Amino acid sequence: PYPTDIREYLYKVLVIGDLGTGKTSIIKRYVHNIFSTNYKSTIGVDFALKVIQWSPDTVIRIQLWDIAGQEKFSGLTRVYYKEAVAALVVYDVTRPKTFEAVPKWKSDLDSKVSLPGGEPIPVVLLANKIDLQEQGSSLDTEDMDKFCQENGFLKWFGTSAKDNKNIEDAARFLLEEIMSRE
Ligand code: GDP
Ligand code: MG
Repeated sequence: PYPTDIREYLYKVLVIGDLGTGKTSIIKRYVHNIFSTNYKSTIGVDFALKVIQWSPDTVIRIQLWDIAGQEKFSGLTRVYYKEAVAALVVYDVTRPKTFEAVPKWKSDLDSKVSLPGGEPIPVVLLANKIDLQEQGSSLDTEDMDKFCQENGFLKWFGTSAKDNKNIEDAARFLLEEIMSRE
């Protein structure tokens, strides 16, 4: 049977974080299932669209916003954040400075966008490049959970764009969260 009423949603999702943390790589992996060691960082904003058959009668289009060249500035413009319904904040597990920058990204985001009801948009933290992490030095789950709680992240995932680890799971989690509010 063909459903007569197909529901379609379009969501803007931001991917932010310091330069070189793997934002573009994560998006390319998620949308095209590819990985390259060299993505040119064009100045401005890149968009990628992923279409998901969420259920037999529901199609979701996710428009992923990838920043390039603005990572070193303190914060993005309001226009960039406008109407975003969710975000991924990315850091690089091999560079502590990129983790230290995470709360700045989060507060910049919260100060410039919120849901129509006024609540903060759902945000997930990605600890990327876990494939490069030395054996035995894995992230402390308790510390990370606490960090997420204190900084208003719904959840964190250790990811690798290179090895295709946890990216699909993180995106699905965020989508479930978005859809639960519809
Ligand atoms: P962006 O500036 O945040 O968009 O970062 P890029 O996606 O351009 O990635 C920066 C560099 O890190 C590139 O050389 C990528 O190939 C590399 N990279 C990104 N994700 C991973 C990962 O999960 N593992 C490893 N080993 N390298 C990664
Ligand atoms: Mg990039």
